[in-house]
Amino acid sequence: MTTPLIEARGLTKHFRVGGVLSHTLLHAVDDAEFSIGTGEIVALVGESGSGKSTVARLLAKVHRPTSGEILYQGRPLSSMRSRRQTLAYRSDVPMASYLQTLAVGKYQKVTATGPHGLPLTYWYRPGVDDAFLPSLKKSPRLIQFLEKNWGKFPLPTAGVVMVDSKSAMETQQMVTMGARITTKINKQSLAWFEEDLLHEYAHQWFGDTVTPDTWKDLWLNEGWAQYSQYLYEQSLYKFSDADLEKFLRKYDTVNRTKIGPPGQPKPGNFAETNVYVCPAAMLKEIYDVVGRQKFFALATAWVQTQKYTQQDRASFIAFVNKQTGKDLTKLIDSWLDSKTTPAS
Ligand SMILES: [Zn+2]
Repeated sequence: MTTPLIEARGLTKHFRVGGVLSHTLLHAVDDAEFSIGTGEIVALVGESGSGKSTVARLLAKVHRPTSGEILYQGRPLSSMRSRRQTLAYRSDVPMASYLQTLAVGKYQKVTATGPHGLPLTYWYRPGVDDAFLPSLKKSPRLIQFLEKNWGKFPLPTAGVVMVDSKSAMETQQMVTMGARITTKINKQSLAWFEEDLLHEYAHQWFGDTVTPDTWKDLWLNEGWAQYSQYLYEQSLYKFSDADLEKFLRKYDTVNRTKIGPPGQPKPGNFAETNVYVCPAAMLKEIYDVVGRQKFFALATAWVQTQKYTQQDRASFIAFVNKQTGKDLTKLIDSWLDSKTTPAS
């Protein structure tokens, strides 16, 4: 049996008539019992003064019942403080708990359409985030760029919510962007903001759709997102593959030396730059070894054939080896564990 939408149990309303000290009671409603199902239209019929309006006002919470209870979807109406409390949130696809957020503010909603009709929503605070709106509106282009590399956007919707923070987060289907990522608004800072936005969108493939089993394999998220970012920068600033390689190796060494290898992160430096840069350098190495075509096919298959799964280092290595037909176990292990940048 389904729970009725509204159920009245012993609903009673007495009004005191006359002055404050009067003891005369008007029995407007006495012991009313009824239920209304979802989509059902109910008419109250009765002579004038029989309590029809009072019942409606009790249901609308204009009056409080003298006794009895009104249940809304099985829950006592008296325990609900506002309409908003009854709003329910549900996702059509699985989501890891760390990818949820709640933003509260005076938001304005902007809707747009991405590739393949992907519904996009941008939530910004007028008067606060206006300077970022043109960047948010570049989302279809950013997603299109990512789709070229990693296959179709893997989730049913996408968007951005602006918040008052200095960082960004890949919250699922609605990435969180901090308005204080940049303090000065200019062409350069907005370009960085857009690269960050692309990074968070890349996580919708790597991190959100395919999630690491444990935080030890955070490199599985950040390596891909960071590499996506470098590929995007390469497309914007037209630097060569050799220049990217040079930059990655140099930056890898700095991070590996200062923080440590990315495969065994220490609790004290969780999510530091080593789990971003070093695995991105490793992905570039895999790209060089297997070639452009096989590399992008591998990345696309990693997400598209394993939607809503959790993976780890062992499953990644097995997948890479099977997809590429090469044994890259040593290459991957050394990039994840070595204290020095592996030789190519
Ligand atoms: Zn990231």
